[in-house]
Amino acid sequence: MEELNLDWGNLPFGYMKTDYNVRCYYKNGEWGELEISSSEEVSIHMASTALHYGQEAFEGMKAFKGKDGKIRLFRWQENAKRLQESADGILMEKLPIDLFENAIKKVIKLNEKFVPPYGSGASLYIRPFLFGIGAQVGVRPATEYMFVVFVSPVGPYFKTGFKPVNMLLARGFDRAAPQGTGHIKVGGNYASSLKAMKIAHDKGFASVLFLDSKEKKYIDECGPANFFGIKNNTYITPKSSSILPSITNKSLEKLAEMLGLKVERRAVPIDELETFDEVGACGTAAVITPIGKIIDNDTDKEYSYTKDDKPGKISTKLYELLVSIQTGDTEDPFGWVEILD
Ligand SMILES: *Cc1c(COP(=O)(O)O)cnc(C)c1O
Repeated sequence: MEELNLDWGNLPFGYMKTDYNVRCYYKNGEWGELEISSSEEVSIHMASTALHYGQEAFEGMKAFKGKDGKIRLFRWQENAKRLQESADGILMEKLPIDLFENAIKKVIKLNEKFVPPYGSGASLYIRPFLFGIGAQVGVRPATEYMFVVFVSPVGPYFKTGFKPVNMLLARGFDRAAPQGTGHIKVGGNYASSLKAMKIAHDKGFASVLFLDSKEKKYIDECGPANFFGIKNNTYITPKSSSILPSITNKSLEKLAEMLGLKVERRAVPIDELETFDEVGACGTAAVITPIGKIIDNDTDKEYSYTKDDKPGKISTKLYELLVSIQTGDTEDPFGWVEILD
């Protein structure tokens, strides 16, 4: 295989052109053949529901190279199922699990030289997405759909090491409504969080901590990531109908149990923020983002979790354990990792 000479360790978390993507269309009531493309563009009708009514859902996952040089996928079945749930939530045609599997495996194989080497801290980010196409102006679900998967090598999330960041508790914004689409991975949720995130970034914060949008009393999500807190040997993560079920969070819950912690998934009132020893955000991109400080934008109240700019011990342990399972350094006791042959 051709060796790519990239500065893997310094790649951003962003888009890089690779050789191929794969695509598939749903038309006349059936899914067509998986197509290989080297174009970075898609051509769709200007009256597509994806463009006007937000009929779009996506997934994000990573492939890693192990010490043995083999490519590893992490819990892809969970992503495939979640894409089906997202499709269901906005009335799109559900993508069959085996089509999802064929598509991601094919696009990784085709772009094998872009899978970063073991030890670089980099990985291959995989972005599957599904959206409504075809000419339609009335507000109805589309009758035609397109599914695309592209990949991009991404550098390690923490280039200068695993370090805590600060979050803005933004009371003036909601990400998702209690009976809306917060629990599925649709583009619309991201559109509605961009403004709050920009305000937070402009003020020097890494992201926003959203409260539940009905009572404004409980922690909901942390930007595009789930929230967790640790105290009394317990891993606590919010339960809410507007939270996206993070696969990383589910995995961390299992690992926390393995390390002897108790796990609670329940409503987390704002007042409880004072009582945590460690807090963090979790998701595929960073695995864990330790939180150093949370500042309330209304009251300026400050919650602090770090004395010497170091992440907490348990967060660090959980992070290292999950990453080492993903790369194959630690044996996977849960059957989460699939080696591609
Ligand atoms: C994707 C996403 C997450 C993280 O989910 P993972 O499966 O862990 O990557 C968390 N919150 C939101 C809103 C998301 O879109």
